Formats: sequence, structure tokens, C-alpha cells
Amino acid sequence: MKAKDSDRVKKAVELAKKAHDGQFRKTGEPYIVHPLAVKKILEEWGMDEDTIIAGILHDTVEDTDLTLDDIRKEFGETVAFLVDGVTKLSTARDGMRDIDTYLPATRDNFLRLMIALGDDIRVLIIKLADRLHNLRTLSALPPEKQKKIAKETLEVFAPLADRLNMGLLRVEMADLSFKYVDPKRFTELQDLIEKYNKSAAKSLQKIEQEVASTLKKEKIKYSLSGRVKSVYSLHKKLAKHNQNMGEIYDLTALRIIVDDITTCYLTLGVIHSLYTPMNGRIKDYIAMPKQNGYQSLHTTVITKDKRIVEFQIRTKEMHEYAERGLAASFYYNEQKLTENYKKGKIEHLPTNLLWITELQMTAAKLREGKKVDLKKLKINLFADKIFVYTPKGDIIDLPKGALPLDFAYRLHSEIGDHVIGVKINGKMSNLNKKLEQGDIVEILTSKNQTPKSSWLDRIITPHARQKLLHALNFASRPAPAAAPDKSKKKRKPRKAS
Ligand code: MN
Repeated sequence: MKAKDSDRVKKAVELAKKAHDGQFRKTGEPYIVHPLAVKKILEEWGMDEDTIIAGILHDTVEDTDLTLDDIRKEFGETVAFLVDGVTKLSTARDGMRDIDTYLPATRDNFLRLMIALGDDIRVLIIKLADRLHNLRTLSALPPEKQKKIAKETLEVFAPLADRLNMGLLRVEMADLSFKYVDPKRFTELQDLIEKYNKSAAKSLQKIEQEVASTLKKEKIKYSLSGRVKSVYSLHKKLAKHNQNMGEIYDLTALRIIVDDITTCYLTLGVIHSLYTPMNGRIKDYIAMPKQNGYQSLHTTVITKDKRIVEFQIRTKEMHEYAERGLAASFYYNEQKLTENYKKGKIEHLPTNLLWITELQMTAAKLREGKKVDLKKLKINLFADKIFVYTPKGDIIDLPKGALPLDFAYRLHSEIGDHVIGVKINGKMSNLNKKLEQGDIVEILTSKNQTPKSSWLDRIITPHARQKLLHALNFASRPAPAAAPDKSKKKRKPRKAS
């Protein structure tokens, strides 16, 4: 957001241009277009100068002759540190994909990943900017790669943006990716939203007028804006509600932004005096912020012409933070945070992003050569989710408490139906073993295996349950002549185990 580039930034741009000279992107453009786009994104996010410079240089150490020492000499320790972090992060990720089941290597890479993350959260922010630009230009890649990058973004980067409360980024990443992962569904839902918005436009206008005049009467200063639901979040919600549009209450949402917290509650009262609030749908995220620090009052009401509308009421600061999240915090606390990083001090972040502090403390311990409990190191970035790996390094996200069969059915029902065993982190394990963050899971199958009803106790995800039930129903029909007594024997014990 700086009006003009400082001399340091100019110097970084010149250096990057020279270093990437002769390199081209898949889009056919000179490579420098990419680091410059990353620079612009970081500026829009209001990041500090060191981060912007590191963003400009983020691909030089990996892809050009420029060394970390060159960067250190020219731009100082912090920039070198950030570039190093981004480089480590991408080598670690590459490594995860290439290795097979070798645990030590994965663990090493995981350690490196964590250290890179924990050292300075700005490394992550540069990585997010890098990914965002790559997504925006994804059309230049071959379809297979597009899908892979888009999927990884949906599974890792968009949730990460959410964890950092960077709402705008999350929405853009999720929708850009979803378009590649499932183009048909994307267009379908996009049309649906558009149609709905069109049909709702008139009554929405009326509602806005009603709200406006009432707030005016109450002498409440406010600004009002509609918010468009992202295609991907609608997709996820519909999946949760059996594709029933009637259960999606926040398709139409109006945001009221006011000056202070007292006015937020006052405004909530005004809305409830105008419309009937729906039972159990008032959420006070001001008194009880979400884990990522998000604050707002939410209420769903039924309007006079029987429309269901969600209102979100918050202060300007909360709004800013909801859209830009951690980046906004940096903008406001740049000086303080940068100073503390320079001193190597671990600083508590301005919001309740305590998990970052936790990460940093672990990293600090590692740097000092102290022992760290590996279990503890597997810090869960996403409260209700774990990420596990296939032996090939594909990332699979599952809810906490998921079991090997959930994993197997997630991969494919053909795999789920034929499970005979599981190896976790290279060791034989059993189907009752809860999976943990970072596990490498290898499912062993046999063509002769058939699904068992006792498996129902070893499954926690609805998806896997549905697949298994389907397979069981199928199996309980008159068995094919092949091996009748065998299948009889297998289906007998129906008692709970
Ligand atoms: Mn890059």
C-alpha cells in the first residue's frame, strides 16, 4: 500500500529481473511477471517492506544463481531469513510428494516444514501470495497439474487462509480452485446463486430500506453491504445438508458495520424488533470469537414477506480483520512485530492466534537443539481436521478421530471394500487405530476380501458409512453362485463387537 517503491524495493526488483532473465513461465510471459505479481499482492495486504522484498526474491535462491548470502549482504538478515523459509517450505513439500514410505525422511521434512513455518509467520504469508498468483494463472498448466494444484489448495491453503482469518483470500482461493476441481458443479452452483440473487434483489432492496430508515431513526451510524456467498462454501454447505437448498439460510446475507461494540448489540436489537429471529440462530462471535479471531454478531431472521435473511453485525476493525486477518494485524502492528522479530523474541500476536505462538515456541526449541516431543510437534493447524498422507505423499484431510477405513473409503470404495490391513508410518497397525496428524497411511487390500458389517463400528465419516452400507446391502442380496458357504460364514456375526 505504499505509494512509491522505496530504494530497497527498487533494488530488489532490479536484482530479481537480472536473476530471472531468460526464464519464462508456462503462460509464455517472462518469469519476472510472477515475483512482481507476488509483490503486488503483498502490498495490497499491507505487509511490511522486508516481506515485500522477500516476496520479490522468493524464487531466486531455488531457481537462479543468486545465493542466500547475496541476499543477506544486500538486504539484511530478515529478508534472507524469509527467502530461506519460503525455499525450505517448497523443498519440504516437494520432498513429501516424492518419498515413499520412509518415515525418517518424512519426519525430517515435516520438521523442516514446521521450523520454516514457526520461525516467522511471514514466510507463510509470502507462500500464500505465491500460491494465489499461481492459481490466478493456472489455466496455462496441463489439466492434470491444474487439478492437483487446485485440490491441494482446497485442502491445505484455503483452510490455512481461513485459520489466519484472511476471509477474502480464502474465498478467492477456494472458488478459483473449485472451478478446476469440479468445473461442471462450479458453473451449476454459480448459476444457482446468480438466479437466486436476481429473484431476491427486489425484496432485498426493500429490506435494506427498512433497516436503513429504522437505524436512522435510532441515530445509529452504519454502513450496509450485501455479501455474496462463495460458490465453494455453498457447495460444502449443500453437501452437509443433503443438497437441500431449503436448509441454506445464509444465501442472502446483509452486513451492517458500525462504530463500536455497544452499537453492535444495539443494532441487533433493532433488527430483532423489525423481523422475527429464527430460533437458535443468533450467534455472538463478539463475546466468543471463533478460533481464528473472527468477531461478529450473526442472526437469521424471517422478513415480512417470508424471506430468510442473515444479518452480520460488526465494527470496522472486526470487518477489516475478517477480510484481511493476520495480514491486517501485521499492518497495524508492523513496527512492534518487526522489532520483536529482530530481537528474536517470541511475541504474542495481537489476536487470539495462539497456535502461531505455540508453533514459534516449538521452532525456537528446535533451533536451540532441545528435544521436542514429536507428538506435540504435530500441531494441528485446523481445529477439527487432521491431514494424513498416502505413501505417495498425497494429502488427505479427515475429521479428527478418523479411522483407517475412513481413509480407505475416502481414497476409493474399491479400496475400502477390500481392506485386509493397514500400515501406519510403515508399521502394521489395526483398523481400530485412530489416525493422527501427519501419519502416513498405507491400506493393504485383497481381491478376495468382502466388506464386513462389523466395520460399521470402525468408521466415523458419513461418506465411508454410506459406501459401506451400500456395499453391505449389495452383498446381502442372494449371493452369486461362486462361493456360497464362505459368504454365509462371513455375514453371520452381527452382534456388536
Ligand atoms: Mn513462486
